Amino acid sequence: MKKIYLDYAASTPVGERVLSAMVPYFSVKYGNPGSLHSFGQEAVSAVDKSRESVGKSIGAGFREVIFTSGATEANNLALRGVVDQFKIQNSGLGIRPKLIVSAVEHESVLDTAYFLERRGVEVVVLPVDENGLVDLEKLEKELNERTVLISVMYVNNETGGTQPIAEIGKMIRNFRNSETASYPLFHTDASQAFMYLDCDVRKLGVDLMTLSGQKIYGPKGIGALYVNSKFLSPQITGGGQEFGLRSGTENVPQIVGLGKAAEIACLNREKNFKHVSKIRDYFWKELKKSIPDAELNLPPLGAPHILNVYFPSEYTGEFLVKLDMEGVAASAGSACSARAFTPSYVLKSMGFPEERVRGSVRFSFGPQTTKLEINEAVRRISHCVIMSV
Ligand code: PMP
Repeated sequence: MKKIYLDYAASTPVGERVLSAMVPYFSVKYGNPGSLHSFGQEAVSAVDKSRESVGKSIGAGFREVIFTSGATEANNLALRGVVDQFKIQNSGLGIRPKLIVSAVEHESVLDTAYFLERRGVEVVVLPVDENGLVDLEKLEKELNERTVLISVMYVNNETGGTQPIAEIGKMIRNFRNSETASYPLFHTDASQAFMYLDCDVRKLGVDLMTLSGQKIYGPKGIGALYVNSKFLSPQITGGGQEFGLRSGTENVPQIVGLGKAAEIACLNREKNFKHVSKIRDYFWKELKKSIPDAELNLPPLGAPHILNVYFPSEYTGEFLVKLDMEGVAASAGSACSARAFTPSYVLKSMGFPEERVRGSVRFSFGPQTTKLEINEAVRRISHCVIMSV
């Protein structure tokens, strides 16, 4: 039985051209970018080239891209780094920093916010509406002179819900200008957005932005944070790599992979968007025909690659196992917490009742997904549902 992968929001394969760009840096061009000799120079020029590619893909400058071990680390660096830097700049003044995050952020933002809260930071978790969108009026009301950072993700990993980042960016800039200060800063986790949506940092009006390799046909274990360094205090100290903001020998093959993946994703964005939107619409049309009581938890709008579906007769965990036995790979939402299945806090915060949250599954598509795969996937999903009735 041929397996069907409908979990591209968890991870994509590494693209062929990405892999071939990476391979020499494992065994042939293996120098440490910190070394002065030619091996080191070869490595550092690969890292520089990749930094340029990533920068170009988001409209950022060379020194504004910091490579990290993934989106989790980039999010941690953003939140912890900004709060720390603010504390350093304001030490002795007794100002309690305030951090605002949305209720549907990835755990790497939410848990970091709670971590900081336990250390004295005021944390406000903004509620979302039934579409998973933050209420802009509420956000505006929360802004004050102690607000250091607002973190609102671009595209939600469980629902595909897409926040009006440019609008939020504008609001924050207006507030900042009226106070003539450098704060608050605005961070967005664009891990799920980059593949399909324009992530130009100037157009979005963000001060920090997280990217992830594994969501864009790059490798796992690599990500980047876009940031203006004056606002950030490093969280990993040592040899001073990444402009002193993230020490540790650069992971050259992964960095090369991220640069290549970003370049390719950017070039093909429009084409991929069109294809994946069509695939998603076709999937939903066919699924609804086969399983009329299935319901969408969020109508598609914005990012095209994610559909979160409620199956009234199913329990998510068991259903995912049945689907896997039928050779269909889907997920409950965040892959990071899927092994120990807990009902989605994202769906809960959108106001769905417990019963619905416990019967919902995320399907996500990629540029490789074909109509043939969709036909077969729908047949197998329907088979699983019929078995339970
Ligand atoms: N943010 C978002 C929106 C994600 O979807 C993910 C991956 N589930 C992450 C952060 C974490 O990415 P990584 O595991 O690569 O650190």
